[in-house]
Amino acid sequence: MNDCRNISVSADGGGPGISRKALWVVRELGLPAIVKACVTCRSTRHHPTGKFRVNANGKLLDVWMLICCELCGRTSKIPVHERISVQELDSERLLMFQDNDPVVVRELAMDAALAGKAGYQLDWSGTWELETGTPSCEPGREDPAPLKVIIRFELPAPIRVEKLLRIGFGLSRSAVKGMVSSGRIRLPMAIDAKAREDFTLFVVTTPPPSRDAAADQEACP
Ligand SMILES: [Zn+2]
Repeated sequence: MNDCRNISVSADGGGPGISRKALWVVRELGLPAIVKACVTCRSTRHHPTGKFRVNANGKLLDVWMLICCELCGRTSKIPVHERISVQELDSERLLMFQDNDPVVVRELAMDAALAGKAGYQLDWSGTWELETGTPSCEPGREDPAPLKVIIRFELPAPIRVEKLLRIGFGLSRSAVKGMVSSGRIRLPMAIDAKAREDFTLFVVTTPPPSRDAAADQEACP
């Protein structure tokens, strides 16, 4: 008899057989460094100063985010908007730039699209830590109940899925890869992919292919 058959469905629709849930949170520790050459020193790491510069020239607007070099403190500017018409920018948004709104500073400091457009990289090292809460999600343990793990990102740091699994389960790289390839851990993306937003994974107790799983697959087109 397979114990998994008797596991009740969780109240919020976690799917059949999933009775245990865990929440992992990628906690924000800081903003990524802005990586571009400093014209004064050899450093390449910059941080936002927390200020914007807004220039109005007739009906045209320029908005820059000010950053400073980690080593020498030299301030430089990143173009956020260049010569756009006043009408193009929402007045509330303009006010946020003028007020140096910290929410907008955070948003733009993490904006990969802006980094690509302005020609710099983001260094996310040291910007996050994984909080796994209860230690009951150890998948190596023989446990009759399958586990659903929800991974929530507080910041869009790109993190290799394999690294999250290693930290989250406290397992070696080879153990994690083995569990994924055997179907014990089920992922919505490749193990080598980088995740940067919320996803859910499952740890199942009976790795396929089993006779039941094969029968299920045949039944579902
Ligand atoms: Zn410098």
